[in-house]
Amino acid sequence: MYDIEKIRGDFPILNRKINGQPLSYLDNGASAQKPQVVIDAITRAYSDEYSNVHRGLHYLSNLMTEKYENTRQIVQRFLSAEHEDEIILTSGTTEGINLVSYAWAANMLKAGDEILVSVLEHHANIVPWHFLRERLGIVIKWVDCDQNGALDPQAVIDAMSPKTKLVAITQMSNVTGTKVDVKTICHAAREQGIATLVDGSQGAVHGPVDVQEIGCDFYPITGHKLYGPSGSGAIYIRAERQSEMRPFIGGGDMIDTVSKEGITYAKPPLKFEAGTPGIVSTIGMGVALDYLMNIGMDKIAAHEAEIGQYAAMKLNALDWLHIQGQAHNKGAIFSFTMDGAHAHDISTVLDKKGVAVRAGSHCAMPLMQHFSISASCRASFGMYNTHAEVDRLVSALELCHDFFA
Ligand code: PLP
Repeated sequence: MYDIEKIRGDFPILNRKINGQPLSYLDNGASAQKPQVVIDAITRAYSDEYSNVHRGLHYLSNLMTEKYENTRQIVQRFLSAEHEDEIILTSGTTEGINLVSYAWAANMLKAGDEILVSVLEHHANIVPWHFLRERLGIVIKWVDCDQNGALDPQAVIDAMSPKTKLVAITQMSNVTGTKVDVKTICHAAREQGIATLVDGSQGAVHGPVDVQEIGCDFYPITGHKLYGPSGSGAIYIRAERQSEMRPFIGGGDMIDTVSKEGITYAKPPLKFEAGTPGIVSTIGMGVALDYLMNIGMDKIAAHEAEIGQYAAMKLNALDWLHIQGQAHNKGAIFSFTMDGAHAHDISTVLDKKGVAVRAGSHCAMPLMQHFSISASCRASFGMYNTHAEVDRLVSALELCHDFFA
């Protein structure tokens, strides 16, 4: 039984009014709201428990270290990773992908080697590969989606060649909600000895994840989209790939010894975690993931599937609304445009009705080009959204259409 009223009660911000209207928060794809347990954990950490981690022998340092390291185990469970050491704690997906780019790809790839990406990718899974193109002569190979925004896994497999060294693909588009069959892609890549990175920023939020079943080498997630604090995240890196990696950022914590002559490194995962980390945000992310697992990711997925189907039916009935991406297998994320109104104007009108959506290119310019648009509005649903909020979105859109028509 999914108790939506109880879940909504866990998120204090959902009670507030915006412009005199009840808040309908439909910007979860950008960042999700935080339950009280996460807010309490952050407050407690700063008011009662705070110290730096790993370096101290005193009580508070040990307490913080224990809580921080416990988050690693929580992430391991959340992603069903085999070993705790395969989890590197980061500030988010962007850092995670840059870690792979600098520490693994720059070490293993040479000029002419290919990285395969899809047109669905977020800039976080494009720009680090462009850096390698500019600096090392790596070739980026693109796989297109169809007009519905669906990505055929076979098209990705067909694009693999002996030169392909990495396939970097999103599990779910942050623009269209398209779900990608990453398991089929990763298994085919592994058979050919090709490394795989699955961008889990959106995918991990909306359903259970098992990185061993997916069969990927790298799987980054972002804490703030998972109802945790901003500045938190993690990346799963399969043990075999860790041995192919050089350190990323240098500094304290990631070393074993330092002398005037040289350095030796700490073992992973600390080898890839230099300096004082986002201690409290990481602990808060652990609390958020526990909160999600206690409710059940499968239950959250079922709730969102129902809301998504209802939203699709209501939005498709608006014949003046252009929805980008109608893939058969998609999550509850809807990108849309309206003739005669810029996405920013639509978003501003919706805001007057308390409906929070995002407008712009959603850090996915290649996908905007695919749909021949420069910007769209995006309504992205989460675990606490309701049918009533879909109705409020639709009536605000009708108002907007009347106004601009
Ligand atoms: N990948 C996808 C699919 C995303 O939606 C986002 C954020 O919107 C990112 C990567 C980047 O995440 P972050 O900004 O938390 O590092």
